[in-house]
Amino acid sequence: MEFLTGESEGCSGCSAPQTSCNQCGACCTGGGPVLRTQDERQIKTGKIDISDLYTQRAGELMFNKETLKMEPLVTDYIKIKVTAGELRCQFLEAENKCSIYTHRPFECRAFKCWDSREIEAVYASDDALTRKDIIGGIEGLWDLVSDHHERCSYKALGEWMHAVDIKKDPDAMAKVCEMIAYDRSLRASLADSGRVNEAILDFLLGRPLTTTIVMFNYRIEEEGDGFKLVSVQ
Ligand code: SF4
Repeated sequence: MEFLTGESEGCSGCSAPQTSCNQCGACCTGGGPVLRTQDERQIKTGKIDISDLYTQRAGELMFNKETLKMEPLVTDYIKIKVTAGELRCQFLEAENKCSIYTHRPFECRAFKCWDSREIEAVYASDDALTRKDIIGGIEGLWDLVSDHHERCSYKALGEWMHAVDIKKDPDAMAKVCEMIAYDRSLRASLADSGRVNEAILDFLLGRPLTTTIVMFNYRIEEEGDGFKLVSVQ
């Protein structure tokens, strides 16, 4: 979510001062909420389905608005899927109505664009919901997720991409391509076999490496039966 800061400020497009929500929808675009441990029950009772979620995995590089740098996440962030481009929460409907309003996530409840104190306290807390909180008790599934997280570690990927970028290291390039190919083939085999609903793959395994590789300023270009990495700088 893109939140404004400061007490008694109006949100963009609204006349200040503001003291209640006028459904401008500004807080529901720009990335959507990070789920907190307070949201666990909504998921376990099916109020929010995991097919509506995706994971930003621990180790992914994210822009830190305070340090103004790309920094690795220290834990999973579970988020509601958003539209491409304006990053609009998929639960935001016509006339800026939230289709899950009575079950909306904790961050959405804490957000008041006219007074940021409550949401800033949530940001400062250490209570992001993780995949382990939700599926850690499911034997077999959790093993698969843990194994993928280890084999597709963003820490290792970052180190190899650094070697690719700075030293043009062919061994590092081979390791990166091997990791991306593994991530891609695992998703395809899970979906094709029917063992896992394709709609929950971005929750279980995070977003595909073929997509997130852009955080290292590279993209994938299909080539024959395989692919190659192309710099976008
Ligand atoms: S869940 Fe509802 S309140 Fe929260 S960002 Fe999405 S549309 Fe907005």
